[in-house]
Amino acid sequence: MSGQGSIRVTVWNEYTDEQKKKEVTDVYPGGLHNTIAGFLNKDENISAKTTVITDPEQGLPDSLLENTDVLIWWGHIYHDRVDDKRVLKVVNQVHQGMGIIFLHSAHRSKPFLALTGASGRLSWREAEEKSRVWTADPAHPIAAGIPENFALEREEMYSEPFGIPQPESTVFISWFEGGNVFRSGVTFRRDYGKIFYFQPGHETYPAYHNEIVQRVIINAVKWVNPLVRVSNRDCPNVPALERITPK
Ligand code: ZN
Repeated sequence: MSGQGSIRVTVWNEYTDEQKKKEVTDVYPGGLHNTIAGFLNKDENISAKTTVITDPEQGLPDSLLENTDVLIWWGHIYHDRVDDKRVLKVVNQVHQGMGIIFLHSAHRSKPFLALTGASGRLSWREAEEKSRVWTADPAHPIAAGIPENFALEREEMYSEPFGIPQPESTVFISWFEGGNVFRSGVTFRRDYGKIFYFQPGHETYPAYHNEIVQRVIINAVKWVNPLVRVSNRDCPNVPALERITPK
């Protein structure tokens, strides 16, 4: 499935046996990746396709990465199975300008850890509890059209302290019914690449069917979409532009 827009998005999902269980397919028939690409492709500016870990080159061939403006990453139990060489390619593309969005349990994915240089640690609970997402930075482009707060009737709890570097922006903060809070929408930049992490999206809960969550992810695609994409990461030795008088 692919739309007609100019922003080329690849939605990568590990899509393992865990996600083919009835309690997941009842919520996301065909997998989370197809639900996410489906709502993205309704936007006239976006053209989204999907890949999974069992595809050739783990769904991340060089030619695809080079022609992807924004990579969206959903992974959970198979983080360690992602080949380090593929991770390095993803990281290099982000340094060169590719945008990347990490969803939910991707806080422990290899590309997230490599790009943030942190542990991604948090605490969690699966208790069918309510979450209220607060827009902490209403002036941020990712918050465009998002209300001051919105509720998700069931979401997995993720709690502070969250093992990340100080974000460039904390766009959303979530409260959970059991009393915990979490920086649920944060941005970073690494070289030319923009990064967004967004917490909602446990595989047995319907967050990606929520229109406000969809709007956040669409806004994030447009924000991380590269303004500049450079072709190499070299450190060249260059001639002087002006005459130098050696001292
Ligand atoms: Zn989860």
